[in-house]
Amino acid sequence: MKKAIYPGSFDPVTNGHLEIIKRAATLFDQLVVLISVNPSKTSSFTLEERADLLRRVCYDIPNVRIDSCSGLIVDYFKEHDCDIIVKGLRAMSDFENEFQMAHVNKHLCPRAETVFLCADSQSTYLSSSMVKQIATFGGDISPFVPETIKKDILDRLNITGKTGG
Ligand code: ADP
Repeated sequence: MKKAIYPGSFDPVTNGHLEIIKRAATLFDQLVVLISVNPSKTSSFTLEERADLLRRVCYDIPNVRIDSCSGLIVDYFKEHDCDIIVKGLRAMSDFENEFQMAHVNKHLCPRAETVFLCADSQSTYLSSSMVKQIATFGGDISPFVPETIKKDILDRLNITGKTGG
């Protein structure tokens, strides 16, 4: 039984995240989408909001669970008896940082292997920050986030008063 964690900010979850979640869920028996809370990073959505959006888009994937962690990812990994850390890799920009993180995690916990899934071509340039920028000005975020949570994101961020179609 292989248990994987997929850590990130998910501020908010995008189609890019969801695509990685769906693929990882087919590779491992259990997948925990782990919202990492970083006190030095300001987030646009509260932890509860991020968890709620994730739960709503993952409700139909039976082996996926949402959890959060405010400490080191490897501490969660050890405490919860996990086997794999899953990360998504977009274009070149993610590589340096993710490579460094994978090494640090392995140093802190030698059995912590990181598995990288390449972003698919449609979401390789997609990020939560991009979605937030577009939503703030009431732009169309339909191609970037699941339809079921689109309105919540716009209602929360749109400063122009429209909630889009
Ligand atoms: P963001 O950079 O969008 O704020 P997160 O910190 O939530 O993303 O990222 C969590 C993980 O998901 C990271 O491994 C990141 O590389 C991956 N990821 C983020 N966006 C995408 C995407 N569009 N396609 C594939 N992987 C992604």
